[in-house]
Amino acid sequence: MIMPEECKKAAEFFLQNIDRLITKPTRFMEVCGTHTVSIFRSGIRQLLPEKVDLVSGPGCPVCVTPNDYMDTAIAYAKNSNVIITTFGDMLKVPGTSTSLYEARAEGADVRIVYSPLDALQLAINNPAKKIIFLAVGFETTAPLTAATIQTAQKKQINNFFILSAHKWTYTALDALLSDPTIKVDGFLLPGHVCVITGEAPFSFVSERYAKPAVIAGFEALDILRAVYMLALQVQNGQAKIENAYKRVVRTEGNPIAQNAISSVFSNTSANWRGFGGIENSGMTVNAAYAQYDALHSIPVTKENSRENPACRCGDVLKGNINPTQCPLFKKICTPEHPAGACMVSIEGTCHAWYKYGQGR
Ligand code: SF4
Repeated sequence: MIMPEECKKAAEFFLQNIDRLITKPTRFMEVCGTHTVSIFRSGIRQLLPEKVDLVSGPGCPVCVTPNDYMDTAIAYAKNSNVIITTFGDMLKVPGTSTSLYEARAEGADVRIVYSPLDALQLAINNPAKKIIFLAVGFETTAPLTAATIQTAQKKQINNFFILSAHKWTYTALDALLSDPTIKVDGFLLPGHVCVITGEAPFSFVSERYAKPAVIAGFEALDILRAVYMLALQVQNGQAKIENAYKRVVRTEGNPIAQNAISSVFSNTSANWRGFGGIENSGMTVNAAYAQYDALHSIPVTKENSRENPACRCGDVLKGNINPTQCPLFKKICTPEHPAGACMVSIEGTCHAWYKYGQGR
């Protein structure tokens, strides 16, 4: 970790005090895939005392998107009237028997976009085609999808659709904490999700489960500060939600983005890789905008979905194992030839362990 002198001093302060405050083996979970990447890239795992273990959670949207979603997207891609639009990292995510990447090689029209607005423009440019945007992501990306659907309605663009896999992050955390076998002593909460939601949706972490949690930014010092604040809570026997990312996250979040989500989406049960169905965890296009929901407007028949039994992604996403405990890691499963979603996304835990090594 290369940093200016004053940042170095701050880092040393946090590290020394984490070491002082934590007196026994302690596991903290970073919920967010962006945190995972930042932790590995900055070498924080090596810097922390061995008694502090950082484990990754279910905060990589590509990783938690299950095979049945991928199989549906692939089935749509095989419809010659459809153009699938997607962020690039979805291409290599394996479905039950194939991927979008392979479907594209076989002639399906699958295009990479950088925003749902790109997909909307493609719909305007291709009125004879049905353009389906693969809407994968958490609270951070859902507002733009919602705004794009509202724009499509205003402009009366009727060949634009989404296949929604938008999800509420906090619901997976609730599912995780309700499992008594999961041993985590505190959480680094996702800063960019909290920019949208504010602090309230995560209050159950301390109120119902008596676990400390700190909203963290993404620079190395942000993360060290948040771990230090967790360590202070652990030492003092506290369990509260604290915000270490106040320069960006407001207590109430972003009401405009929240309103965009609630205007367009309803909360429904959704499938998460590794977790199965979680009530009210998914964002489904509501009745007022139903015509933009691909599942509502475009019939599709997909293969029977099943997860790859050899892939331990589900256990990785719950922090039950680290990727090196998966027998496929680095042997059969690599970023070039991923056997599971956690190896595909740059925010995936398996990808981070592959790229940066174990970290200590
Ligand atoms: Fe799945 Fe590959 Fe990770 Fe193993 S290494 S859990 S196969 S993604």
